[in-house]
Amino acid sequence: MILTRSLAYRYPQGPALAFPDVDVAQGGTLLLQGRSGAGKSTWLSLVAGLLTPAAGSVTVAGQDVGALRRGERDRWRGRTIGFLPQRLHLSDALSVERNLALAFFAAGLPEDRAGVRAALAALEVDGLAQRRPGELSGGQAQRVALARAVLLHPRVLLADEPTASLDDEAAAAAVGLLRATAGRCGATLVLATHDARVRAALPSAQVLRLEPAQALA
Ligand code: ADP
Ligand code: MG
Repeated sequence: MILTRSLAYRYPQGPALAFPDVDVAQGGTLLLQGRSGAGKSTWLSLVAGLLTPAAGSVTVAGQDVGALRRGERDRWRGRTIGFLPQRLHLSDALSVERNLALAFFAAGLPEDRAGVRAALAALEVDGLAQRRPGELSGGQAQRVALARAVLLHPRVLLADEPTASLDDEAAAAAVGLLRATAGRCGATLVLATHDARVRAALPSAQVLRLEPAQALA
């Protein structure tokens, strides 16, 4: 679950943003909508504990994120949050398999090679384990990044503009894959997007619409 109350953020050299309250049940799906610049990526970073709110609170799977000490946050995030960033951040210096293995170190957990294989197999990219990310197609790279995001069985899966630059068929497939992958983990799914096709693909999802007017700058 994700619960926010009176959440606000101010960039040091940028706008102040205030976000509407939201309650998403564990295993639910939230569409975070709004134009470019409305604050979608900022909201994801606040929920993931990557940014500290100027005001208000975020609770994820029962944990008050603001109550975590700095040293605890990275481990908590590694075990709780699966993140599919807009830029996938796969290192081309490492094989696909080694890219996934890094997630264990970030979460302070021992490496689990069988877990890496299982995550790649679930996304049907286990055949690419020894390849470099730069050799993959966009769709393959997104599947690898999604395998990494769910490697540690997160409670929440956050996807930032997952359909950007995809054609209609690939966009629908990507949304279906995210929903199925979150369902397999029992994770709450958040899709941050300004792409109207995502709403069409998930008609029953809960919607949080961020209005540029809510930027208080
Ligand atoms: P979205 O993901 O909906 O496009 P963002 O969360 O990226 O929106 O940005 C919200 C607002 O905050 C925008 O006005 C953007 O320019 C501003 N912003 C984002 N990141 C920074 C930053 N690092 N420093 C200053 N302003 C920022
Ligand atoms: Mg964004």
